Amino acid sequence: MNDPTGLVDLRSDTVTRPTAAMRRAMAEAEVGDDVYDEDPTVRLLQERVADLFGFEAALFTPTGSMANVLAVAALVGPGEEVLCESRSHVLRAELGAHGALTGLTSRTWIHERGQLDLAAVQQMYAPDMGPFFVRTTAIAIENTHNFAGGTVIPIEDVRALRTWADEVGVGVHVDGARIWNAHVATGTPLRAYGAAADVMAVCLSKGLGAPIGSLLLASREQVEVARVRRKRMGGGMRQVGVLAAAGLHALDHHLERLAEDHEHARLLAEACGQDPALTETNIVVADVPDAPAVVAAAREEGVLVGAVGPTKLRMLTHLDVGRPEVERAAKVLGRLLS
Ligand SMILES: *Cc1c(COP(=O)(O)O)cnc(C)c1O
Repeated sequence: MNDPTGLVDLRSDTVTRPTAAMRRAMAEAEVGDDVYDEDPTVRLLQERVADLFGFEAALFTPTGSMANVLAVAALVGPGEEVLCESRSHVLRAELGAHGALTGLTSRTWIHERGQLDLAAVQQMYAPDMGPFFVRTTAIAIENTHNFAGGTVIPIEDVRALRTWADEVGVGVHVDGARIWNAHVATGTPLRAYGAAADVMAVCLSKGLGAPIGSLLLASREQVEVARVRRKRMGGGMRQVGVLAAAGLHALDHHLERLAEDHEHARLLAEACGQDPALTETNIVVADVPDAPAVVAAAREEGVLVGAVGPTKLRMLTHLDVGRPEVERAAKVLGRLLS
């Protein structure tokens, strides 16, 4: 446990604090001015992550939201549309950035578990229909799906989307903020996910435990354009090798251990009376009669959980909660919910 407050904080996997070893790696990083593309550690991180997923190039961004905006804008222009699941992060949790900054529109399909509904996508898909209808230029999927509870979209489904998208000539974006969890949970190679996407966004600041940082993955040409857009958005950063070093350290030390988080999440799901088989990765969503009341009562006992809606609790496991803390939280929640 790496939380000096003594609380068991399950509100998000973004609450982790950099470990001592990560801080050392950050302190020792070689740096340069990244706006000149001269930070060797940022360059190393970009090359490494692009290679992990089989992309030509990558661009370091301060947030996953910025990586998503840049990724979708690489496929969808002003007045064009992207199709997404209704609770996708790009539409629900980025404060309208894609509409406000890119000028795109969107339509959604609904899936309780955040899955791709290819039949619905094919129904909605509108190619260039002249000056009558908005043109669909991309499909965005989220893997794992955050608000659906860390659900994995199986690689077969992603490949089916890829095949169809190639037939009709539409782009595919994967919001892979937690693609690492999908990879560890299923054993699907990162390159398989990469091969099915035109562009991707991945986060270092979720389960991997870096304090900051995400990457856009795309073609060299798309990254060139995104580099300009990133600067325009105020995201041109200078000696941020200190931050990229945290990401490199996380890839070396915190990737395979995500399996522990998944095991811990199943333990919490069980304590909350949920079917643990429905907890595929590190996010637990539990149905309770009065979520805010449980949040308040758990806080009294040093366990922080979130409420998503009046009857849904949400908990995430991560690097800063070890087995003893998870067992403590499971006990508290089990008692409160019995
Ligand atoms: C966290 C998250 C992001 C990026 O969020 P930032 O807070 O902007 O880094 C993007 N997509 C999903 C699914 C996420 O969970």
